[in-house]
Amino acid sequence: MAKQSAPELLWGLGLNDIERRRIADGAGLGYILRDWSTGSLPTVADVERERPFLVFIPSRVWTALPPELHATILSMEPLQKVLLIEPNHPVLDYADLLDRDFLSLVPSPLTADKVRAVLARAAEASAIYEDILRMTREIALEREILSFKTDALVFLNRTLSRAVESLNPATILAQAREDLNMLLPVAAVQGAFWNTPGSGAAEAELFLCFQEEAAAQDQWVEFLLKSAAKLSGNPMHGYQLTFLMDGAAPDAGDLSPRAGKVVLLPLKAGGQTFGCLALLLAGEARLGKDQREVLHSAINHLALALKNALLYREVKTRADHDGLTRIHNRQSFDERLVDELARHQRYGHDLSLLMMDLDHFKRINDTHGHQAGDLVLKEVGGLLNETLRSTDFAARYGGEEFAVILPHTDEEQAWNLADRLREKIARKRFTSNGVAFQATASIGVASLAPGSLSRKVDLVRQADQALYLAKASGRNMVCASACSAEEPAAQG
Ligand code: GH3
Ligand code: MG
Ligand code: MG
Repeated sequence: MAKQSAPELLWGLGLNDIERRRIADGAGLGYILRDWSTGSLPTVADVERERPFLVFIPSRVWTALPPELHATILSMEPLQKVLLIEPNHPVLDYADLLDRDFLSLVPSPLTADKVRAVLARAAEASAIYEDILRMTREIALEREILSFKTDALVFLNRTLSRAVESLNPATILAQAREDLNMLLPVAAVQGAFWNTPGSGAAEAELFLCFQEEAAAQDQWVEFLLKSAAKLSGNPMHGYQLTFLMDGAAPDAGDLSPRAGKVVLLPLKAGGQTFGCLALLLAGEARLGKDQREVLHSAINHLALALKNALLYREVKTRADHDGLTRIHNRQSFDERLVDELARHQRYGHDLSLLMMDLDHFKRINDTHGHQAGDLVLKEVGGLLNETLRSTDFAARYGGEEFAVILPHTDEEQAWNLADRLREKIARKRFTSNGVAFQATASIGVASLAPGSLSRKVDLVRQADQALYLAKASGRNMVCASACSAEEPAAQG
């Protein structure tokens, strides 16, 4: 192959004058020859630096080298070796030498033609070698791409399937942190969701990791509220905070926004941005284009799973609550009572039940109108909510009747609470169309002492009977089931 540009480098190992001259004659101007003396043979590093096209090794030099140097020279890649066989040289195992990577054996006498022939072969071999190298590189690259795609699929599959496993937004966020770690070092995943306000003001729900430092928490609240306002186009008028049990990596340490890079990712579903995730990255994370695409697919999957979970929660809350009073409805009361009775039987603690009925409610409706009646029901619901403990359970039992489950509460405590409620209602002033009016309630109390066994209907019936007695005894009154047991059939 004719050489036009930079001359190719040829090497010799311990060549004599004649050999040097013949090689120079045969190679011509396209090549330069560097001969290494046998006292300082080239190393692998020399091969890599100088990248010689070919090395000529006379048989006398080869034979004189110790076997370990044979191995070193034969392993030098991509060096092409030619053995110059001298006249009268003892016969070598030529087949073995060719097997062991000699490109060619040139028998004596060494002539310029033979040099040209061997260079032509070397050029051919080197072209084939280059092709193989290129193809190998291409295969390796394709393998890498394939392996990346497989990893991406595994990652997406895992993220998606774990996200749809749960209908709890907090659980989904905690799992997202674990899964996203396959892609980049995430110290914490926190987030904000907001309602799309119809007429009312926009409110946000923030999911934050617990932070020892109150200032760090305030920074996140501020950051997420600002992001929510920006992404939704509405200022946030209020927010609710939920702490994530495991939204942060176990050894994350400082979780304040300044502890790492914060990546804000909007969450979209049905063409609407309904929330955002804030990833706190641990250390530097540089994502390539492909990885960024994978991250965005993962976030899209997560967005759908989170939207689903939020909708589920909304539907469930609606199904469990009474639309007018905003407290639990009869169905969720029935379910809760079964649970509480089971807990009472298992752990043997006190359990009480209040049944409350508004007095002469029909009269309120008749005098002030149905809307005024509704207002009273609504405000009594609010009053129950603000008076009771979070472990108590208040429900609208029907019409103007309310029921309250009081776990860990004995009859006396329940009676006292009931009387406080009664008093609060009686003291309350309602206004409808500028007219002020009052309402009263009668309450029946029933209790299960530790260790006593009772079926659900018994407790409800006992409370009902006590209520009946309160009505019969003049209303705006609390009666306990102990009295009702004495007068089970009392009628007003
Ligand atoms: P008592 O003191 O004996 O309980 O007398 P009462 O008038 O409260 O009892 P009654 O059972 O005769 O009437 C209950 C009234 O409550 C009748 C019904 O129209 C009214 N009511 C039930 N549900 C609602 C509601 O959702 N809104 C309004 N405004 N009234 C309701
Ligand atoms: Mg009633
Ligand atoms: Mg009534």
